[in-house]
Amino acid sequence: MAMDEDLVESEAGFAGLGLRPELLHALVSLGYEEPTPIQRESIPPLLAGHDLVGQAATGTGKTAAFALPILQSLTSDRDGGPQALALVPTRELAEQVSQAVHRYGRDLGVRVLPVYGGQPIGRQLQALQRGVQVVVGTPGRVLDHISRGTLHLGEVRTVVLDEADEMLDMGFADDIEAILAETPAERQTVLFSATMPPRIDAIARRHLREPVRIQMGREVASPGEMPLVRQSAYVVARAHKAAALGRILDVEAPTAAIVFCRTREEVDQVTEALNGRGYRAEALHGGMSQDQRDRVMGRLRGGSTELLVATDVAARGLDVEQLTHVINFNVPAAPEAYVHRIGRVGRAGREGVAITLVEPREQRMLKAIERLTGRRIPLERLPTVTDLRARRLELTRASLQAALGDDDLQRFRVVIDSLTDEVDLENIALAAVKLLHEAAGGDVDEQEIPSPAPARAEREPREPRGDRRPRSSDAGVARLFVGIGRRAGLRPQDLVGAIVGESGLPAKEIGAIQITDRFSLVEVPDPAAERVIQALSRSTIRGRRPTVRRERFQR
Ligand code: AMP
Repeated sequence: MAMDEDLVESEAGFAGLGLRPELLHALVSLGYEEPTPIQRESIPPLLAGHDLVGQAATGTGKTAAFALPILQSLTSDRDGGPQALALVPTRELAEQVSQAVHRYGRDLGVRVLPVYGGQPIGRQLQALQRGVQVVVGTPGRVLDHISRGTLHLGEVRTVVLDEADEMLDMGFADDIEAILAETPAERQTVLFSATMPPRIDAIARRHLREPVRIQMGREVASPGEMPLVRQSAYVVARAHKAAALGRILDVEAPTAAIVFCRTREEVDQVTEALNGRGYRAEALHGGMSQDQRDRVMGRLRGGSTELLVATDVAARGLDVEQLTHVINFNVPAAPEAYVHRIGRVGRAGREGVAITLVEPREQRMLKAIERLTGRRIPLERLPTVTDLRARRLELTRASLQAALGDDDLQRFRVVIDSLTDEVDLENIALAAVKLLHEAAGGDVDEQEIPSPAPARAEREPREPRGDRRPRSSDAGVARLFVGIGRRAGLRPQDLVGAIVGESGLPAKEIGAIQITDRFSLVEVPDPAAERVIQALSRSTIRGRRPTVRRERFQR
């Protein structure tokens, strides 16, 4: 697929908004196919210099909505004071937004600095002295820098108040006022908030000038538009999403399903993970020619593919009668997109199934969808290993029962007859069931997927200003994919042996090992990951030389 084609294609989306080529290029390489609704509505007025109030939750793409216009307007002066300031409520959001600005501004060589409490101030001071173009910070620490005289906001042209309701909840109101007072009066001011209580409105009235107002997902879908669909959602941490998806599919056993992803990269990763789990999954994305797409669709209709993994753009116009399941690998960025997606199942009075994987921070968006559709989406518990075992046995039973109706059973009688002299019928049946069960995927050799803490866990504890968050307990652990599994006779001790023998890593430092039919996952301390990968890549395990790499579904 040629790069140029990509660019042209995405121009229909992003370039139509007036973004410069360096930004378009970055978006293409990130796999973004088209702007989300909040981006489509916010970017043009922001580029034109207007103030803006946007009601949008995390996950709608609001970061790019304000970051792209900021990047577009940066001057090449990297050594002066910051030209844009984004205030965010938490340390992790400061990091996320700062990384996003960095990614989108890659081709512009932008200098962006996150500043938050709890991080040694020395590093921030050095960076500030060298000069930065964009500062993303929590109000407390930004104010700290202002009072120390280490941050001058006299050159700032755009200020963003991101997740303004959260910042107020955390007691940052006065800090925000004080910071705004340090910025030039003629600046552009952008305010995003998931909710719009009167206090937010008051801030907007005081500090913004004739802002453009944008509110996402307000209109209510009429109940008649909602197809007959069984809806459910699972809250799962990002690191476990791929495993969770596989498990849900195992239990649901869809005839034909489509899995929606945000970007092309995600499409490729999910497709690979599903194929690794023994599914026949195919990627469908906007970079494919019409011909290629038609062929994939043909294979789905013909039954030789059971799963399509697609972006919204690629699935546009797609019409498959036999689709039984729509699966959202993320909560869609706009509630309307959700309604549109699930409209693909439940046709002609047949019941369809819509399943949504929700990261803890996306739960608010699920609420927005519920408001739009007027239906509750029940949160389900992920299938446990026990559920999975029970389900596989159930599938084995169902295939046996179906085979009882076959009319060519008699030709196997000779096998039974020759065994019944020594063994009783029941034992023969048990052995036959075992063989069938194993051939169909066999027993489950997986670990439980931890369920994340209840809603909004990432923001706890909520004390003002203490930009904080303990590192998660599995920080510093890398999960490696090893392309050999049970089918090749692999046992955990083979992996441990190979790792210890080849890399010298002590056995006690090897973490959880998960072996599936075709591949394995093994946890090792992050600093040792590269060494282990190198060592294993050179070694032979059970007569094979498997692919070894970091697992892709990690942060
Ligand atoms: P945000 O609401 O800004 O936290 O963004 C949510 C997620 O959507 C992030 O992972 C972004 O990388 C991703 N994203 C933002 N805009 C787009 C887009 N136009 N297409 C695909 N993914 C996007």
